[in-house]
Amino acid sequence: MKKVDVLLGLQWGDEGKGKIVDYLSSGYDVIARFQGGANAGHTLKINGVTHVLHLIPSGIFHENKINIIGNGVVIDPYIFKNECQGLFALNVDVKQRLKIALKAHLILPTHRILDAVYEMSKGNSKIGSTLKGIGPTYTDKVARLGLRVGDTLRSDFREKYNHLKQLHLNIAKSYGCNVDTMTIDKKSFDEYETEWFDAVNFMQDFEPVECENYIDKLLKEGKSILAEGAQGTMLDVDYGTYPFVTSSNTMTAGVCTGLGIAPQKVGRVYGISKAYCTRVGTGPFPTELFDNTGEILRRNGNEFGATTGRPRRCGWLDLVQLKYSVMINGVTDLIITKSDVMNDFKTINVCTEYSVNGTTKTCIPFELDDESLSPIYTSFEGWMSPLSYQNGYEGLPAVFKSYLDFVQDFLGTKILIISTGSGREETIVVE
Ligand code: IMP
Ligand code: MG
Repeated sequence: MKKVDVLLGLQWGDEGKGKIVDYLSSGYDVIARFQGGANAGHTLKINGVTHVLHLIPSGIFHENKINIIGNGVVIDPYIFKNECQGLFALNVDVKQRLKIALKAHLILPTHRILDAVYEMSKGNSKIGSTLKGIGPTYTDKVARLGLRVGDTLRSDFREKYNHLKQLHLNIAKSYGCNVDTMTIDKKSFDEYETEWFDAVNFMQDFEPVECENYIDKLLKEGKSILAEGAQGTMLDVDYGTYPFVTSSNTMTAGVCTGLGIAPQKVGRVYGISKAYCTRVGTGPFPTELFDNTGEILRRNGNEFGATTGRPRRCGWLDLVQLKYSVMINGVTDLIITKSDVMNDFKTINVCTEYSVNGTTKTCIPFELDDESLSPIYTSFEGWMSPLSYQNGYEGLPAVFKSYLDFVQDFLGTKILIISTGSGREETIVVE
């Protein structure tokens, strides 16, 4: 039987997953999102036009492919409807190509309110949440209070909704928050809530599936499936830089719970990393650069959030961190993106160890935010030339190839793909 291959981010998100899923999609029949929600922003450039997807799997632009929003995803019907309408305008047949898991949890308008309330209450230790209601929705899921896609089909949906809404309003009130004065997407709460319910109706035109049975059936039919991760490994709620994380399991293990598949059905694991590092939101980031080099990475790499527009924090590649991610995800194939951002760098640094209180560490310590922690770098000569995809791997500058060899050797994993730009064609597969 076929297995489910996985593509996920090995850093703090924004590694370029959108482009790579879109590129790899041609080899798969089915693309499935398994966690997260509209906090993600997957940027794709097709025929020179840029598209950003938040909730819908990146395979949606391909004809004859099935896309699944799995049960590990949290869905905001309002954002979902907006995203679909954007795709309808491009003549993408979303209704035909997309299935939604009945067991996926719903983000209610009041979940978004609570996200803002909790962030405000944190003062200086804010997570830097995208404020899409992700955290409070997963909280309700675990607290066994949440509403699921399947609930929208039941006659008592409004009743259940009102019950949960009231609970949320009580919490908001206890934090001193008055919902009557709050806005969501520049709309009053009542206005937004009306549109949210319209969107719930809209969502009912899509085929709901029991994700676990549906995927099992597809595998038995011999269909190939790619699970598309969102965010990145260091934002995993269990193994990331807690508490500065998102609220889902972004790592390979999340595919099993998020789609309802057994571990032995996981096949290849494509791990994607930038040739440097970025992070949005707060939390530890050992190789962060506060100097002009960081600024150049941000400018050359256009490092601004696809969901929030926030400038991303930038720094050198951290191989200690990456080795950890390769380990916990069981990465079989590495994908390196955005090396071209450093085309005119004379020197390129790569972190290979940390120094903590005068001792060196080769793995991530529990106290990653220890003030004495500093990265130890290995320096490489820059390739100082454009990276052209036209002549394949062989055509790449020798200096660049020796840098890639170092990365592969350090991680003990082979590089499969090198992306040299945002276009579909700017992709080199290493034979
Ligand atoms: P939340 O998931 O919106 O609550 O955000 C929690 C943390 O994860 C914040 O630091 C966000 O900036 C970060 N985050 C959430 N989604 C993404 C993403 O898709 N890319 C990068 N960072 C993300
Ligand atoms: Mg992103």
